[in-house]
Amino acid sequence: MAGRNPAIVVVGAGVAGLAAAKKLKEYGFNDVTVLEASERVGGRVATASLGNACVDTGAEYIHGASEENPVYCLLKKSGLLNQIPEMGEEAFYSNKGHKVDANFARYAYGAGESIIRYRGSNTGKSLGEHYAEKTQGMIDSLQEDNDKRTRMQSIFALVGKDMLIDVGASDLHRISLDSWQYYINMGDSLNIAGFMFQLVDKLLEDFPKDRLLLKREVSKIKWDGSFCVAPPHDELLLSAHTESPSEEKLCQYPVCIVCENGEEIVADHVIVTISLGCLKAHASSLFIPSLPTEKMEAIDKLCFGNIAKIFLEYEEAFWESDVGTISLIYEDDTPASVSTNKMQWLKNMQYFSVLRPKERLMLYQTTVTFSVIIIKNNK
Ligand SMILES: Cc1cc2nc3c(=O)[nH]c(=O)nc-3n(C[C@H](O)[C@H](O)[C@H](O)COP(=O)(O)OP(=O)(O)OC[C@H]3O[C@@H](n4cnc5c(N)ncnc54)[C@H](O)[C@@H]3O)c2cc1C
Repeated sequence: MAGRNPAIVVVGAGVAGLAAAKKLKEYGFNDVTVLEASERVGGRVATASLGNACVDTGAEYIHGASEENPVYCLLKKSGLLNQIPEMGEEAFYSNKGHKVDANFARYAYGAGESIIRYRGSNTGKSLGEHYAEKTQGMIDSLQEDNDKRTRMQSIFALVGKDMLIDVGASDLHRISLDSWQYYINMGDSLNIAGFMFQLVDKLLEDFPKDRLLLKREVSKIKWDGSFCVAPPHDELLLSAHTESPSEEKLCQYPVCIVCENGEEIVADHVIVTISLGCLKAHASSLFIPSLPTEKMEAIDKLCFGNIAKIFLEYEEAFWESDVGTISLIYEDDTPASVSTNKMQWLKNMQYFSVLRPKERLMLYQTTVTFSVIIIKNNK
């Protein structure tokens, strides 16, 4: 490697890959190539047009919108955050169609959040168990009338269901309370619906387009070898002044990345940013030699949830003009009943946000399992 820039390949052009490439460029590494399997950049940050609105089909919230969060800082620096319109009012309705007093709903919601966001330790319990237990304790200690306690209980259930979407989990009972303490809360969540894709544009801003290679699905990463190739063209020109052509040496690289189309790219370093799901499916055949046992075990043991978005388009808005979000409170719901039981799919239609421009569009987020059931039921 002596005498030449280290060649670095980043696999995946989602925000992780693009951010790595941008940082490397900032630190002066000029030989950086990004390989992306699909025909577009951004990965799970994606955008689409719907009616006259631009919608985010992937991420749209900055979780932990504070100076500690690099996504927040980048978008703030670009002036984008000043363009975000106000979210609008929160409205709460019961499943029977009654409007629930927003002050009461917010008070109960806040109480539920303070329990669910508690960082526990060494209890051996799941977040779901802990939440059901603590909220029940709180309900029992309340002096309120029965009616109010029931409503409080159902708002606690709403908090639990919103939490599933917030952390992208499919079941509160599969989140370990002990691990939950390691979640770093950097601040409130900021919804930048319709604007998130600008993060991708910002990350790409100074990156040379010819070093971003789309439709390059990486199928093998040989990462512990010695691969000889002729030096890059620029270095050939440089050495022509100093050495005779016969002295031209082959360059050696420790990594060779093979794409599905047969293309091979050598490198000194490779940064793999593909998702945990892709790693679970392909890690055993992707890396040659195999990754160390502890890494393979981590890939195997880590789990992920899934969320889907359903965009609803109405002929005209049925909500009041100042409304930004609508939460549905199911009267017979309790924190203990928060589950991903398929029979409960209707109860998991609990949170809708009005999309900008606030004309006819609404977004409903749910787990993939429920979205499949909802689509089937509405065909
Ligand atoms: C519907 C939805 C809503 C979400 N909402 C939010 C939110 O509001 N806020 C938030 O913070 N997060 C949200 N997330 C999560 C967030 O989008 C992701 O955590 C983030 O975008 C992941 O970025 P990444 O670069 O790590 O991975 P990815 O975006 O998955 O990028 C990985 C890239 O690698 C490519 N790739 C895969 N295999 C190969 C291969 N073999 N060769 C080459 N390339 C390959 C993929 O095509 C992809 O482009 C949401 C996710 C979804 C799906």
